[in-house]
Amino acid sequence: MEEHRFVEVPQLKEAGDMEDGRNFRHLPPTYIPMRNSIFYSLAASYAEEVGAHYIIGGHNREDVALFPDTAPAFFQNFQKAIWAGSRLLRGRRTTILRPLQLRSKAEVVSLAAGLGVPLERTWSCYREGRRQCGECEGCRKRVKAFSEAGVRDPLRPT
Ligand SMILES: [Zn+2]
Repeated sequence: MEEHRFVEVPQLKEAGDMEDGRNFRHLPPTYIPMRNSIFYSLAASYAEEVGAHYIIGGHNREDVALFPDTAPAFFQNFQKAIWAGSRLLRGRRTTILRPLQLRSKAEVVSLAAGLGVPLERTWSCYREGRRQCGECEGCRKRVKAFSEAGVRDPLRPT
């Protein structure tokens, strides 16, 4: 049975709210403190609850270059942490997989287009709204990736 669960994490600030943060000036504007520790902890909790064998992340090569919490060292240690913290996850050998970690964002777009992924249902913007802003870092990277992949972005007016 397929289930989508939505989890509210209101204490996480939006990336755009971090610009005035004293401790974040040396980090990319899209940085959110300990973001992946929080997200993967929630995923591990859910995996334990439903008996999942895998937790799958979609980080690409460019993420790994920018954010330490998408790097192999983070996941090697996080994997150990969830097995140390859960008899069920350790017993089931629940594993964190990152199948896109060696691909560029453009390669991911190309792969998705080839697989028939409904790209009109994807979201890259770091801001809230009914439409992607087209100006933030996430939007700029999206435009670049679709362009490099030679794929028309269904969310951009032609
Ligand atoms: Zn945006």
